[in-house]
Amino acid sequence: MAKGLSTRHLIGIKNITEDDIRLIFETADNFKEVINRPIKKVPSLRDITVANLFFESSTRTRVSFELAERRLSADIVNFTASSSSVSKGETLLDTVNNILSMKVDMVVMRHPAPGACVYLSSRIPANIINAGDGTHEHPTQALLDAFSIREKLGDVTGKKIAIIGDILHSRVALSNVFCLLKLGAKVRVCGPPTLIPKHYAELGVEISHDVQETLRWCDVANVLRIQLERQDIKYFPSLREYHQYFGINRQMLESLDREIVIMHPGPINRGVEITSDVADSPHSIILQQVENGVAIRMAVLYLLAAQY
Ligand code: ASP
Repeated sequence: MAKGLSTRHLIGIKNITEDDIRLIFETADNFKEVINRPIKKVPSLRDITVANLFFESSTRTRVSFELAERRLSADIVNFTASSSSVSKGETLLDTVNNILSMKVDMVVMRHPAPGACVYLSSRIPANIINAGDGTHEHPTQALLDAFSIREKLGDVTGKKIAIIGDILHSRVALSNVFCLLKLGAKVRVCGPPTLIPKHYAELGVEISHDVQETLRWCDVANVLRIQLERQDIKYFPSLREYHQYFGINRQMLESLDREIVIMHPGPINRGVEITSDVADSPHSIILQQVENGVAIRMAVLYLLAAQY
């Protein structure tokens, strides 16, 4: 096993290796133990300043990163677009350079533009972690998803994972595909034809439009939200019709001859892509995903800081 990561930044899963992913998991195993102790804090990032730059709304990811940074004893500056000078016309690079003049070592950034993190990583000296760039990648979400599958099923290699829902607008889907394929899983995406981009066929995943058959095939179903805020045109007639054809309900799970694991990156739209009785059922590991998010983000921050 490699001693350190092969990269200074976490821009996307596409750019990291299987060894990087396995090293992040092993480090997260240790941090998961730490955050379940009565004293949850370690001094690993003392003297490191992390800027959390959120140019797009986020609850779970922002809180999870902030908690991970605090557990590692980092100093933190928070910056959200609504309260920033971006709305006054400042460029992304100027905003970030101003923050870096304050001697920031690492930047966690969410931005609506795909590629925003790559752009920054070649222009500023800090380590960059992508916390979601538009419809492109959301690497820490994919890492925590795969980590949660490994925890639940023992391994990811050889497992059949279905990603069901709005694939077209989902950065979670793309990062998950890269991560799961690197770890040797079999991956299928499922949803209406209008919500599955054609290029997915070239990524090495199966494509299906039949949810019931996909549930019979898979060990794990990762259910995604319809990202209405990113949809400029109508991709299906109505949310009611989407639910009727692609929503996951309890009867569908009961008709299977074995149990499957249900995942969701959140936020859940109950009654659209998933019913409450499925989201809250023992099949669901949705809250374990959230817990694992903190351990995974601690691992990423810690390993990238070591590259400094
Ligand atoms: N929380 C995830 C993301 O930021 C998924 C979602 O928003 O539906 O991409």
